[in-house]
Amino acid sequence: MSNRFLILMYHMISEPLSKDEDKYACPPSLFDKHMASLRSSGFIPVSLEAIEQHLKHQSPLPEKAVAVTLDDGFEDNFTNALPILVKHRIPATVFLATGSIDGYNQWMTRRNFPSRKMLNWQQVTAMDQEGIAFGAHTVTHCKLPELDKETVSYEISASKQQIEDRLGKPCRHFAYPYGLFTTDSRNAVENAGFSLACSTRSGFNTRHKDPFLLHRIEVYGNDACWKLKQKMTFGINNADLFFPLKYYCSRLAQRFTRK
Ligand SMILES: [Zn+2]
Repeated sequence: MSNRFLILMYHMISEPLSKDEDKYACPPSLFDKHMASLRSSGFIPVSLEAIEQHLKHQSPLPEKAVAVTLDDGFEDNFTNALPILVKHRIPATVFLATGSIDGYNQWMTRRNFPSRKMLNWQQVTAMDQEGIAFGAHTVTHCKLPELDKETVSYEISASKQQIEDRLGKPCRHFAYPYGLFTTDSRNAVENAGFSLACSTRSGFNTRHKDPFLLHRIEVYGNDACWKLKQKMTFGINNADLFFPLKYYCSRLAQRFTRK
């Protein structure tokens, strides 16, 4: 039997600066509670590296394994998230849009989101030394399905290369910006030498699924701990008070209609 495992997706660990940011910005005090609640809810935090080993070599994963990922590489991942992750001994992976390093989140400010500082390489290096892993998230945080083949290949390979050059170690994990991919871009990620890639489709993973289309649960910036727990229990993105009731009723109905 193969264990199911979960991957959580966060973005900024900061107080939201606008209503639009509520979904993406998790206040540090709440992130602290989320990280404390992983183990107390019976989940075992694991690294993406451990998941990679499980997928490649069937090395055992604990039951109820969960990996924490943070997309884009916001500076608050260093200032706010790092101390909390270290305090709770939670392994985590940050997916970097390498062209924005030491810059701003231009792909968001174009859509009227507040401007946010991104990590610089010194911070990335310091986090690497604290055990935080880094994955690639393209150079320009682009929509891969809208680009021609050469550009797709550049965006994927160059982000990998830049991280490897700076950290002096292989970068084998990728996340699709906006969760957007096509069969071609999925294959380009595999051909670039990555071992796994994260989408933004919700749900549980097992080693029998495509390692280049791993599912992730999106944790919203304002999710209360009970919502996080419900999302992890059912592998869903949108928690609601009545979800467990609806879920068990539909299971019961299935049981009675099955011959
Ligand atoms: Zn992103």
